[in-house]
Amino acid sequence: MYLMVFILCFFVAHWYLSLFSQTFFQHRYAAHKSFDMNKGWEKFFFVFAWITQGSSYLSPWAYGVMHRMHHAYADTELDPHSPKYDKNLMAMMWRTKNIYAGIMGKRIAVDPKFTKNVPEWRSFDVFANGWFSRVLWIGVYVWIYIAFAPYWWLFLLLPFHIVMGPLHGVIINWYAHRYGHVNFETSDTSKNLFRFDWLMFGEGYHNNHHVHPSRSNFAMGKGEFDLCYPIILVLQKFRVIRFAKA
Ligand SMILES: [Zn+2]
Ligand SMILES: [Zn+2]
Repeated sequence: MYLMVFILCFFVAHWYLSLFSQTFFQHRYAAHKSFDMNKGWEKFFFVFAWITQGSSYLSPWAYGVMHRMHHAYADTELDPHSPKYDKNLMAMMWRTKNIYAGIMGKRIAVDPKFTKNVPEWRSFDVFANGWFSRVLWIGVYVWIYIAFAPYWWLFLLLPFHIVMGPLHGVIINWYAHRYGHVNFETSDTSKNLFRFDWLMFGEGYHNNHHVHPSRSNFAMGKGEFDLCYPIILVLQKFRVIRFAKA
């Protein structure tokens, strides 16, 4: 019983920690610069993202560049991921993966406006985004399950650990461009997935976010609450980050 609870807690912790890194660092900071931080903290969060995302680490630089393209070209042919232009979720994931790899490998020419001020730590990214690191982390997850999981069916959770980062990405990029409600009329298909986003750390308010991309609080409507925002305020209080002067 205790071991089962331990494994389930490990899964939940991995879900939210990995997602926190994605929404706080790769998305709100690297892509949108909703707030600023010094180079030391920037490096800290590169490493934090690597530890929390492990085998599915996303380069903040490549993510930031690709995500800016998503906002600039949302739901057009140039959008790196849009349910309007991919016939199913897997096809969209595959195309996104290829564009991400092309940006990461600098094989795709990108407009300089998409790379401006995106934080880059190339040597670390080459390591953390590489196969050695990915296989190492998969080994860690498998070891934890072999050592502690008391029932075979718990192993069904293992694939989710391995692809955690892209899994969070696709929930927003596919579902939050198809299902949900809108607070704002837009020219794209962005939707808010929930009234209270308990699952996606504020990322579920995707329609709000498309209308106000650089806002650090994604909640805007009645009853909405962005779980990441109080953490941003605490980090601001401790001077880890700072908001741009108005
Ligand atoms: Zn979107
Ligand atoms: Zn965004």
